[in-house]
Amino acid sequence: MHTVMKKVTEIFKNKEKTFSFELFPPKTDEGYQKLLKTIESLSSLGPDFISCTYGAGGGRRDKTLDIVEHIEKEHQISGVAHLTCVLNTKSEIQNILEDIKQRDIQNILALRGDPPKDDLNWQPTENNFKYAYELCDFTRRQHQDHFAIGVAGFPEGHVLCPDKNLDTQYLKKKLDSGADYIITQLFFDNKDYFDYVKRLRNLGIKNRIIPGILPITDYRGISRFCKTCGTSIPKKVDEIFDPIAEDKDAVLEKGIHFCVNQCQDLINQGAPGIHFYTLNKFHPIDEIFNKIKPLL
Ligand SMILES: Cc1cc2nc3c(=O)[nH]c(=O)nc-3n(C[C@H](O)[C@H](O)[C@H](O)COP(=O)(O)OP(=O)(O)OC[C@H]3O[C@@H](n4cnc5c(N)ncnc54)[C@H](O)[C@@H]3O)c2cc1C
Repeated sequence: MHTVMKKVTEIFKNKEKTFSFELFPPKTDEGYQKLLKTIESLSSLGPDFISCTYGAGGGRRDKTLDIVEHIEKEHQISGVAHLTCVLNTKSEIQNILEDIKQRDIQNILALRGDPPKDDLNWQPTENNFKYAYELCDFTRRQHQDHFAIGVAGFPEGHVLCPDKNLDTQYLKKKLDSGADYIITQLFFDNKDYFDYVKRLRNLGIKNRIIPGILPITDYRGISRFCKTCGTSIPKKVDEIFDPIAEDKDAVLEKGIHFCVNQCQDLINQGAPGIHFYTLNKFHPIDEIFNKIKPLL
């Protein structure tokens, strides 16, 4: 008999600030074995929860639940299974939710996901959920309070909805449909995060808004990724990293320094913790975490 791990919402009741990690399922079996070792190292830092993406960047969907189950059963850390809805039918989603429940996993991050990149004409049918709020609503109706439900938030607005006020209205709809908390897209200017928090609080939203933070380790790669996900690169960041972009060690050193400062400022100004996008790496998360630990 194993212990069923806590819901994230239970953890929030006893902790004002949490720190957590995001992983993704590797594409190869070799990568998977390597990830299990990284999970062991990350677990030694004592995170409050670890989440695993579903299908993002072509990651293997079938491995998400195995990874989350492994985190819970082998490391006694609450796991959060990301679940996207656009590429599955409603009945497939129903089966996946049942599978998640059977595995005693009680945390999901309910997402829309992205349409297939190679099919520009793709449209959801009536058998698909179109937006994440529908997945929140469906999950609550089918499973009541079994799951703690997190959702994605976009401090700079979503790429498909640059009207930030409209995007926050849509965010509210996810919470009104049963979501419990928000994890944000990555950002590099903390003002974007605090302005976002203000916009949401002005709508009466009281839920936790956890900043999602990505340490800069490969500046060119991150710049490309930011273009696709709607995160802007502030001038001050470009001025630091562009001149040294080809020097791996220099980027890593400056990246750690920038990330530590960003996290310290977020925490000092009242953010309820940090969710690190680890890219499945222990280093430099360990170094960054050890520097901000005293604040958590
Ligand atoms: C923390 C985090 C984790 C992520 N994990 C994954 C993952 O594991 N796998 C993956 O594939 N992707 C992942 N993503 C990416 C995410 O799936 C995409 O950004 C996706 O395009 C939006 O997902 P969403 O859940 O925010 O969608 P939604 O909240 O449904 O929003 C999608 C778009 O529709 C608009 N919209 C929302 N509701 C309405 C409405 N009622 N009417 C009209 N427009 C509306 C929104 O403004 C937005 O532009 C993650 C993103 C974040 C920030």
